[in-house]
Amino acid sequence: MTMTEESRSESRPFEADVAKLLQLMVHSVYSDKSVFLRELIANAADACERLRYEAIASPSLLADDLKPRITLGVDAENKRLTIEDNGIGMSREEMVEALGTIARSGTKAFLDRVAADAAGLGEESALIGRFGVGFYSAFMVAERVDVLSHRAGTDASWLWSSDGQGTFSVTAVPAETMRRGTRVILHLLDDAKSYTERSTIERLVKAHSGHVPVPIFLVEKPGAEAVEISDGAALWAKPKAEITQGDYTDFYRSIAGQFDEPVLTVHFRAEGRQDYTTLFFVPGSRPFDLFDPDRKGRIKLYVKRVFITDAADILPRYLRFVRGLVDSADLPLNVSREKIQESPLLAAIRKGATNRVISELERLSEKEPVAYTRIWETFGPVLKEGIYEDFERRDALLALARFKTTASAEAWRSLKDYVAALKTKQTAIYYLAGDDIERLKSSPQLEGFRARGIEVLLLPDPVDSFWVMSGGSFEGKPFKSVTQGAADLALIPPLDAQAAEQSEAAPAVKIFVAFLKSMLGGAVADVRVSDRLTDSAVCLVAADGGPDRALEKILASAGRLPSAAKPILEVNPRHELIVALATLGDGERAFREDAAHLLFDEARLLDGEQPADTRAFSDRLARVLKRGLRPGA
Ligand code: ADP
Ligand code: MG
Repeated sequence: MTMTEESRSESRPFEADVAKLLQLMVHSVYSDKSVFLRELIANAADACERLRYEAIASPSLLADDLKPRITLGVDAENKRLTIEDNGIGMSREEMVEALGTIARSGTKAFLDRVAADAAGLGEESALIGRFGVGFYSAFMVAERVDVLSHRAGTDASWLWSSDGQGTFSVTAVPAETMRRGTRVILHLLDDAKSYTERSTIERLVKAHSGHVPVPIFLVEKPGAEAVEISDGAALWAKPKAEITQGDYTDFYRSIAGQFDEPVLTVHFRAEGRQDYTTLFFVPGSRPFDLFDPDRKGRIKLYVKRVFITDAADILPRYLRFVRGLVDSADLPLNVSREKIQESPLLAAIRKGATNRVISELERLSEKEPVAYTRIWETFGPVLKEGIYEDFERRDALLALARFKTTASAEAWRSLKDYVAALKTKQTAIYYLAGDDIERLKSSPQLEGFRARGIEVLLLPDPVDSFWVMSGGSFEGKPFKSVTQGAADLALIPPLDAQAAEQSEAAPAVKIFVAFLKSMLGGAVADVRVSDRLTDSAVCLVAADGGPDRALEKILASAGRLPSAAKPILEVNPRHELIVALATLGDGERAFREDAAHLLFDEARLLDGEQPADTRAFSDRLARVLKRGLRPGA
């Protein structure tokens, strides 16, 4: 491209997604439009941090302008607000790319959601402010936005300009217009005039950008002197005693892009063989993409206060809800981001930082159980992934886990509580896994355990089946599913002494059990007399050694199990119905056959499954009901 072509002003349409976003912004009903300022200041600070990083390799980029700085200028008369930085700046191509297309995946995801909603401008437009849509939020308050920029190390300045109506232009301006960096000029809408008041700007900066690690100055009218309104000192480098909870909350909001309060703040400095500072936050609410498999941790890595990357995977996946940063004094500044990833120093930081988060969670669980319970209720299912992913910290994570159990009602129990309440001769920690806590509570498999006062963990999360199966134990007690194998409850006496006496099954029941087995044939692995039932007539359990029933279902539905293993049907030998069926006369063969199949289907229904053959089931049910209406027919 020749110089003349390049310097011509050129008008271009926005990428389709940008046009959609701008359209949405104009119609936004979101009342707190002031988020635009936080976004533009964040961009200015990013630009300063990127320059600092590039200047490590090319110090000449800084020229004689060494100190990073953000300057806000207001001009009430002309309804203008400018946000200026002396950071990295943008070349012409970078401007077209960065300000004409949408780079953020979060913004794309947001737009996809809006597109999926036919109305399009419903409650999603209220979400805009909470989402942080970046640069384009400027159009919530401005009728036109001009961006002057000069990329460090080049000799050209460029002007980008748009009214947000579908096109933008880029024009060459005299190189000396900007020395380096970017000036964003907002031509404010009439109803946004308050952003030219000094007090409004000062208040907003204090509230949302007070801990941006670049100093911020304010010029209250054209020609006035720049006054520092924020010192740019890194919050994490200050002594803890000088930081209030309010400071931490503001900082958390500015780096996490969330608007709630952190439940736990972990600020510590490690000294000795490794010198680094971490500032971590556990959010008070669940981000909407928490279970997105592509979601990465978002811990920022700094080296001596220079931002390096947020892709260093500082914390393990199961701590992906933690937000914050690590600042190392030891990592070399002058290596590539890729090399830093592999550094043994970084490995040591990962380990130390992870241990610290775990130990802070432990401390909180002891000292402030209410706050800890909140974290568990919000992020427990994610933390539990660590029980099978992080073998080294497995015991610590098991100790942090909390459960609803048959003994807890609504309260959360720890495994320590559970083990302390073990019955004499109880050798295992019993659990029941499934997907619905209410159905778990009413499962027939629990009856024999209830009758003996044995506590059972109720595990409703998909992740539960995996960690309990990963072959672990707690304080020497293995985990055992109540739906798996023989219940070996015989050793522990029932609470009600009378029930203990009538233990041996009657001979007629034993014959009936053999009959059931012959009738159900290939559908079950076995039929046997049960210890675990007191109120229900039948239930299904898994064979000893195989996967438990809940895990089997998960594996089968994921296509990971070629053929689901056959269940075992357990029969309650003392149940009125079983005793009656067992002692039925020989002439009742057809009725007994129907009953055999119906009992099996009943057990399947109790597990939340369909009858084996729904047509046959309804025919049998109809026959049995008819017989009930005309006894003896
Ligand atoms: P994000 O900051 O998440 O990348 P934004 O919409 O806020 O998204 O900004 C888009 C891009 O525009 C930035 O990634 C950056 O490349 C560029 N940009 C915006 N403001 C500036 C600035 N003040 N200096 C340099 N580049 C900027
Ligand atoms: Mg941004």
